[in-house]
Amino acid sequence: MKTITPYQTIGIIGGGQLARMMSFSAKAMGYKVAVLDPEPNCPAGQVSDIEITAAYNDMEAIKKLASISDVITYEFENIDYEALKWLEENTYLPQGSNVLKVSQHRYLEKKTISDMGIRVAEFCLIDSAEALKKNITYPSVLKTTTLGYDGKGQIVLRSEADLPRALEQAANYECILEKFVPFTKEVSVIVARSTTGETAVFPVSENIHVNNILHQSIVPARISPKVEQEAIDYAQKIANNLNAIGLLAIEMFVVDESIVINEIAPRPHNSGHYTIDACVTSQFEQHVRAVCGLPLGATTLHTPVVMVNILGDHLDKQNMSNLAPYIPLLPNGKLHLYGKAEARDKRKMGHINLLGDINESLKAAAAQPHFADNSYR
Ligand code: AMP
Repeated sequence: MKTITPYQTIGIIGGGQLARMMSFSAKAMGYKVAVLDPEPNCPAGQVSDIEITAAYNDMEAIKKLASISDVITYEFENIDYEALKWLEENTYLPQGSNVLKVSQHRYLEKKTISDMGIRVAEFCLIDSAEALKKNITYPSVLKTTTLGYDGKGQIVLRSEADLPRALEQAANYECILEKFVPFTKEVSVIVARSTTGETAVFPVSENIHVNNILHQSIVPARISPKVEQEAIDYAQKIANNLNAIGLLAIEMFVVDESIVINEIAPRPHNSGHYTIDACVTSQFEQHVRAVCGLPLGATTLHTPVVMVNILGDHLDKQNMSNLAPYIPLLPNGKLHLYGKAEARDKRKMGHINLLGDINESLKAAAAQPHFADNSYR
């Protein structure tokens, strides 16, 4: 394990908003940043020193990134297997590939966590339409084992009426079938683990989803101290057992005053964007510290916060700079836009952190026309 010092270069695979915010933190700390992304002028490319425009599985581009970087990290978990293997053997990739492999595959992910003695939704592997017919129970959720995010590749089965569509998915993709968890809340915890095994946990975030996409994070989460402690303990246990390095975001359900784990992501997470304005150390700075071998920063919350995502649906697509009617004008609102050239429905364009009293922030958010009229729901 090495220490990467300012003026050295952090190479990031992926140039979206997570890499952009990682880059802001890295640059603030004096690092150079190089990003690899297929899209020219990508959100992170705009704010980095070097932008390599190429497909993620373009080995020449991966090698170029490696040749100019002192450490490699990533902003998403679906890195091509060959590229990952090469990076692990030929570059400094402190996060390794183990946690990535676990988080890339929903069956392996659920099995790994339940083998730690931590509760997950009851699940089984579905490798054919026959297997689904044999194992079906209602209500349940069928998910592809790979490449699903924001609810993609997921079918909720409430009754037999939902079966035909699910059978089609099961015939074409490897899936897992999960029992539907009757949760009262969704929460998440982001934990950082350093190269020396030190961990630091950010405050638990309460997450409100709309159409399977994160809409708001509320911190402190409105949960009991018992549930809060359990969430934190599980996060730490999972990070330690996986020997994770860098950030690990863990999405959880609250059921009957206890925690059921949904999924993990070895990277900064949308539900941790609140940390930028509300914590001593942001999740992005923390990730940079962890992968660079620096001591971790304090995760103390210095104000309550409501993070509201801005999707393409919320913007005037013809004139994206016209934000006047929206939340950003609030005096306690901190605006973060990602520099995406085109607004599309459901595309994450930015977020706002509303600082201060949670009830006031929720009221203020609800009073904004675009967030209040449910037009995108
Ligand atoms: P995921 O892609 O696994 O994060 O799922 C997206 C969303 O679907 C979650 O945030 C939950 O709201 C819902 N969901 C996923 N799995 C389950 C489950 N087993 N039971 C109930 N809701 C679920």
